[in-house]
Amino acid sequence: MLALSNVQKSYIEPGGGRLPILDIASFRVAAGEQMVLIGRSGSGKSTLLYVIAGITSADAGKIVIDGIDVGRLSEVARDRFRADKIGYVFQTFNLLPAYSALENVLLGMTFSRGRADPARAKNLLDRVGLSHRMSHKPAQLSVGEQQRVAVARALANKPKLVLADEPTANVDAGHQQQIVDVIRQTCAEEDVALVLVTHTAEVAEQFDRVDHLEEFNRAVAVT
Ligand code: ADP
Ligand code: MG
Repeated sequence: MLALSNVQKSYIEPGGGRLPILDIASFRVAAGEQMVLIGRSGSGKSTLLYVIAGITSADAGKIVIDGIDVGRLSEVARDRFRADKIGYVFQTFNLLPAYSALENVLLGMTFSRGRADPARAKNLLDRVGLSHRMSHKPAQLSVGEQQRVAVARALANKPKLVLADEPTANVDAGHQQQIVDVIRQTCAEEDVALVLVTHTAEVAEQFDRVDHLEEFNRAVAVT
């Protein structure tokens, strides 16, 4: 489903030097597989997810998603392909404040080839336990509810891969398990692969596969 080979990423430091962040010989996730990525703060976990999602581009290396070498696509085709294949759950949710829960999920569909599908959006909100909150705007929702909307939005496009970057970092302990359960169940139901970044041991230990970024990243950032 996802295969990275010899991927490198560095940032230009404020002083002008190059700061190597990622140097990964191989990172693979199978179709429908659910895994956790851990690593200390600043080790490059978010950068790895950004490079996979195309939010930032790698300096070198090959990224294959669902059998397609994304580096061989034109920039426009690549952006569209990733929008179709990848759902992203941000730590801070990134919901649009002016729009209701239902509209936020529908907006998650408009970047894909398929047209917005209200029945699917409602079904996803129902699955995350928010059928009674579809018309609420983010400010009218609890933090846990907002993150559940973000999970529904990430799945709106029928992606093959969900990238979740510390999705429980901003929720209280009571909502933590609920959000993990919702992400895992919805991914399992639709055979979606999941890469979940967390620093919470109780979350990580629920997964069969836990990768430590430092163990396969040869670029060791000085922090
Ligand atoms: P993590 O998510 O594991 O905490 P990040 O991927 O966010 O780590 O960041 C990895 C390192 O890259 C950090 O040391 C950070 O300071 C640095 N970094 C992140 N973004 C930039 C940027 N745009 N320019 C320069 N350095 C950056
Ligand atoms: Mg991060």
